[in-house]
Amino acid sequence: MTKPRRQLRTNGHYATNLDAGPQEVYDSDFEALVRQMLVRLGEDPARAGLQRTPLRVAKALDFLTSGYEMSVEEVVRDAVFEEQCEEMVVVKDIEFYSMCEHHVLPFFGKAHVAYLPNNRVIGLSKIARIVDVFARRLQVQERLTNQVADALTEALRPQGVGVVVEARHLCMVMRGVEKQHSTAVTSAMRGTFTDDARTRAELLALIRIP
Ligand code: ZN
Repeated sequence: MTKPRRQLRTNGHYATNLDAGPQEVYDSDFEALVRQMLVRLGEDPARAGLQRTPLRVAKALDFLTSGYEMSVEEVVRDAVFEEQCEEMVVVKDIEFYSMCEHHVLPFFGKAHVAYLPNNRVIGLSKIARIVDVFARRLQVQERLTNQVADALTEALRPQGVGVVVEARHLCMVMRGVEKQHSTAVTSAMRGTFTDDARTRAELLALIRIP
């Protein structure tokens, strides 16, 4: 079943206004499913507080999975340029929000992305947008980390790429299965970041991961 996914788009970007207008219908099939879910949870979807909830949930989930509609090519287009630069570029503390594919619950944290250019660089803000392309999907943290590393490798053909992601998973912390404040850390190293311990150490020192 294909779902209309374009409604939130304006000027090529997803709107973040997830409010519900009084007579608004966003995606009637999806909203019917959410209504069923509410009943299943023991709720009354007709009560005042829940009447517009199916609409809001449909919009929110559409936004939170909008990465399926975005491509790295689209993001990096016109943003890669030739530059005599072979020093490490690091963008750290990129905030991201994603949803775990096992529980459809949020996981969120920070991504640190580094690359060693091979005379091609990319606009720094684009790196955060590449993270969003993959974060705004149903994900597992390990795959998210690898996809960001591979996308940057593909786009820049650099000497190496290093990506470290730190995140808290609500499916863990809300259920109390792990310590409440536990953080999962994943990394993906490519090229010189794999081959050269000093390059990797430089990255980890810059983002202060012991
Ligand atoms: Zn989960």
